[in-house]
Parts: sequence; C-alpha cells; structure tokens
Amino acid sequence: MGVTHFLTTSVGEHIANPRFLEAATQELAEAQRHLATFTKRTKRRTKKHRAATRKVPKIHARIQRQRLDHAHKTALTLVLDHDAIAHERLNTATMTKAPAPKPNPERPGAFLPNGATAKTGLNRRILDAGWGVFLAILANKAESAGRTVIAVDPRNTSRTCPSCGHTAKENRVSQARFQCTTCGYTANADHVGALNVLKRAGLALCDVA
Ligand SMILES: [Zn+2]
Repeated sequence: MGVTHFLTTSVGEHIANPRFLEAATQELAEAQRHLATFTKRTKRRTKKHRAATRKVPKIHARIQRQRLDHAHKTALTLVLDHDAIAHERLNTATMTKAPAPKPNPERPGAFLPNGATAKTGLNRRILDAGWGVFLAILANKAESAGRTVIAVDPRNTSRTCPSCGHTAKENRVSQARFQCTTCGYTANADHVGALNVLKRAGLALCDVA
C-alpha cells in the first residue's frame, strides 16, 4: 500500500489512488463559501440557507460512498483472483500522528521547522486512501470466499533487496525507484515492497533472482 498508488501487487500491477476528496476540493470550497454568505443572526432560516447548510455534509457523504465503492470493487477483484493475500500491517495511529514541535534552543518560545506541512499533506492522503476501511472489507470478503489473508510486519519492506536481502535506506533512490547498492537489482519501489510482503508471509513461490 502506498501514497503514489493505492496499492501495488507482487506482479508489479498498480491500482491507482482515487483521491475522491481532492477531486471534490473546489466543490467543497464553493459550498463553504456559499454557506458563509448567509448571516448567522437570522432566527428563521430561508429555504436557500437550509439547502446551503446541507450541501457540505452531502458532498462528504458522497465521497464516503465513492471510497466504499472503490474499496469493495478492489477487494473483490483481489479475492476473486488469489487464494492467499498478504499485506502490510497498518498502524494508522502512528502514520497520521502529527510530528512533535521542535523548540529552538537559541530563541526560547520559537520553533524550528519540523516538516509539519509536508507531513500534514501526507497524512491527509493516507486518510484519504482509507486503507483501514479497505483492509476490513478485504478481510470480510476473503473470509466469505474461503481465502487466506496474512498481515505482515511492514518494517523495511521498501528498503530490503528482494534479490540479495541487503537492507539499507540508500536502496530506495526515490519515492518511485529502488536500486540495491550491493547487487544492483532495480525495480519500482512499491513493487519491491509488495515482493517483500509476499516473502515475509511465506507465500513467495520462488526468488526473484
Ligand atoms: Zn540486492
């Protein structure tokens, strides 16, 4: 599971991240702006004001339905095509936790940059992708279909070479690219993660080398 792609399989197939919230950003902003044009002091709301009040929650409800629909369809495809499915164990609590403020020792009361802005954007996308919901749906469908689902420890799955086993953060050249500093094995970084997850679950049929 990734940020660039919703998920990548061990055969290197990517399933795109749908980003429903991002797609509705402008529509949401407009609805919020429109709502703000109604004065709050009016005791009795007009028909238009009531409609404007309902608009924002309506858009959020639609995004929620789109996410669920996407999760159901993706999970169903995986369950129909595979007898066993391995995935990284999610820890949404730490993934979405805000980074701690870094006080500036030279200026009491001031703070050093802590990467909070970049992290906030990532957090939002993580929540947007809704993996927790997806994995629950996947587990449910797999159980009804008699399939096996295995959650594995996600540590170093994107830093370990699936060919020689060398683990280093330098192996991850960029968000998208993996290149082993020991043996030179090169692949898409998300694909490498998926291969390592499969191996860790004991499901790999053969080595990639
Ligand atoms: Zn290697």
